[in-house]
Amino acid sequence: MINSNTSLYAVIGNPVFHSMSPVMHNSAFQYVGYDGVYTAFTVTDIESAVTGIRALGIRGVSVTIPHKVSVMKYLDDVDCAARAIGAVNTIINRDQMLIGYNSDGLGAVRALEEHTSLRGKTVAILGAGGAARAIGHAVMAEGGHVTLFNRTAEAGKKLAADLGADFCPLSDNRRLNCQVLINTTPVGMIPETEAMPIRAQWLEKDMIVMDIVYHPLKTRLLREAQRRGCITIDGLSMFVYQGAFQFELWTGKKAPVEVMRKAVLQELTS
Ligand code: NAP
Repeated sequence: MINSNTSLYAVIGNPVFHSMSPVMHNSAFQYVGYDGVYTAFTVTDIESAVTGIRALGIRGVSVTIPHKVSVMKYLDDVDCAARAIGAVNTIINRDQMLIGYNSDGLGAVRALEEHTSLRGKTVAILGAGGAARAIGHAVMAEGGHVTLFNRTAEAGKKLAADLGADFCPLSDNRRLNCQVLINTTPVGMIPETEAMPIRAQWLEKDMIVMDIVYHPLKTRLLREAQRRGCITIDGLSMFVYQGAFQFELWTGKKAPVEVMRKAVLQELTS
């Protein structure tokens, strides 16, 4: 029952109409009996939106494209990992103090670590955008050795230099030479579901292959990887684990990860 004591949470971004976060967090609030409600706001003016968070006492916010970087300067504090990444996707409101975090990389690492430890592993990351930056930081913090593969050399080299990782052009016709492969490009996403970011021949048996695209859940990359005997991880796992981090930060309760996954899965397949 929503009443005057109910805490408000939201995702802010543009667009947000497709966001799975409200379904995921509301099902988790309900499951653990937490008196909170989570909604979505389309935001064009991020400075005014942050003023609104303070003014209305919104307790926690997820931040999505295009505000993950620009929101930072309006917050009271940013945790050191999010500062190193240079982007915030989570805000907690502690007595009017707005503190920013980044749960994207943590979500990816938690999904990967269900299958392997990253310490000492060779990890190829496809892409050099915001998600690659967050995941690259988190993987390196866990002791992984990262090589970035990107279409545009300039962006790839810049991120590789920031991370202290290696760089290789995505078009380079060679083996990936890695134990873990993570696709952070949107290649394979609906409607171009037959597209693949790399040649299928580059996939080798026993590689761990994660695709952070989750629409569709089984991308062509994951289907080809499965056929070749790789361990595959879909983008929903990262999404749910980054949401679990937010839930735990906001409520202080353990996140019901399976409930959250089921709720998003149901929404994606309905
Ligand atoms: P972004 O900042 O725009 O970066 C996109 C990256 O993909 C860039 O490096 C870009 O390369 C590359 N790319 C784009 N189109 C390509 C193509 N046709 N061929 C090869 N490379 C291409 O985007 P982002 O924020 O990192 O997000 C990337 C994807 O991850 C999106 O699909 C997003 O929905 C998904 N995502 C999922 C989760 C999750 O929880 N599962 C979380 C965050 C993001 P250039 O530098 O050459 O342009």
